[in-house]
Amino acid sequence: VSTQQPRVVLVYQRTTLPWVFDSAERAGIRLILVPRPDETVTADRLPPAVADVLRLDIDGDRAGALATLRQVHEATPFQGICTLYDPAVPFVAEAAELLGLPGIGRDAALGAQDKRVMRERLAAAGLNVPRFVGLKDPSAWEEAAHLDFPVVVKPAHGFSSLGVTKAEHPDELKAVVEEVGQVCRGKLGEARGLIVEEYLDGPEFAVESLAHRGEVTVCSIGYKGEPEGPYFEESVYRAPAVLPEAVRDAIRHEVTAAHAALGIADGPTHTELRLRGDRPYLLELGARIGGSGVSEYIVRNVTGRDFAADALRIAAGLPPRSFDSARPPAATGAAANYIVPCGGSGRITAIHGLDELRADPRVDHIVQMLFPGDVVRPYPDFTGYPAFVLSRHATTAEAEEFHRALETAIRIEYAPEGGR
Ligand code: ADP
Ligand code: CA
Ligand code: CA
Ligand code: CA
Repeated sequence: VSTQQPRVVLVYQRTTLPWVFDSAERAGIRLILVPRPDETVTADRLPPAVADVLRLDIDGDRAGALATLRQVHEATPFQGICTLYDPAVPFVAEAAELLGLPGIGRDAALGAQDKRVMRERLAAAGLNVPRFVGLKDPSAWEEAAHLDFPVVVKPAHGFSSLGVTKAEHPDELKAVVEEVGQVCRGKLGEARGLIVEEYLDGPEFAVESLAHRGEVTVCSIGYKGEPEGPYFEESVYRAPAVLPEAVRDAIRHEVTAAHAALGIADGPTHTELRLRGDRPYLLELGARIGGSGVSEYIVRNVTGRDFAADALRIAAGLPPRSFDSARPPAATGAAANYIVPCGGSGRITAIHGLDELRADPRVDHIVQMLFPGDVVRPYPDFTGYPAFVLSRHATTAEAEEFHRALETAIRIEYAPEGGR
């Protein structure tokens, strides 16, 4: 088997987001793709790295999904299983444990997903943590009333900022907690608790790291804007972040310590944090490649090395090839993601500016998710992002200038909802 190409199960990755598939192809890793239940995949349109397609219904029939994986593994063994989709991280950890494959383990997966457990573990390790209160249920909102305001209320198992809402004053807390509770019941399927934490002002950063046998390499630190709420839409990502070396060191130190605190010894991670002065405060650490693969694009273009290929190799039990914790990578270029804001609500009648960008040599990918005819509901009812624009630049300052131009170059027109 060792001379054959490693086979890795990739859970719930959309084929419209190409980066991880391209990495697998370059690294000679064959993928067994588990499509999202709502996605139709046609054999002749699959990325070349996909050797097989396996349908699993993780949410509807978790035990059945695990049993199917076991059967497939017994018939034709695969060497690893991974996902870039945050809600599937615990399933993947469990499957890997059951099949004796590399993984972070069920307990670490819990800490990387339940924000209350994460906060407790980071605090116990002496890391920087805002004051917080875990709520079993929205009716327990009063338990958080003693915190210093503003606070941020979030679903304990949330992702993509779904429902994350700032409350400015104690007298708003009950209503905000109820609103977030609604999002939990509606969009996240079930109510599994909330977390309320003190608002951290300051700029936000994303850190892409790779762990192997407990050694953590911080591959890239990027700037994520300074969203102030009350809702926290994604906006920009520009890497490498322009920061003094001492602050970069503090970030590396905090992120590395967080891996140890959460028991994440192997695989890629995506950490979000805010800086208060020179002090990094983690928002969360996801045990996966970030942004459905956008993080692979960012790291590759900042460092010239193949992040997702190493992540897939670690999933298959192989040592990383591009990254070595003893020699952390230097930034050799800049890369960016511009997340087109909805900028309104209603039925989209036109999206201006994207076609012109396709010819721009700085732009590598435009991933369009909303189209004319789609209806954008007003926040907090999150519809999705209209598009991502991924670009490469010589410096982060050039990326920033480019993003400033996009703010006026891309424009979405709406008709009132119900209109045409
Ligand atoms: P999710 O898992 O839904 O992405 P996060 O914890 O990452 O949830 O929160 C989403 C966004 O909300 C963050 O990227 C950040 O901008 C904002 N946010 C969350 N918690 C805080 C906080 N304590 N202080 C300031 N902003 C926060
Ligand atoms: Ca998350
Ligand atoms: Ca997040
Ligand atoms: Ca975010």
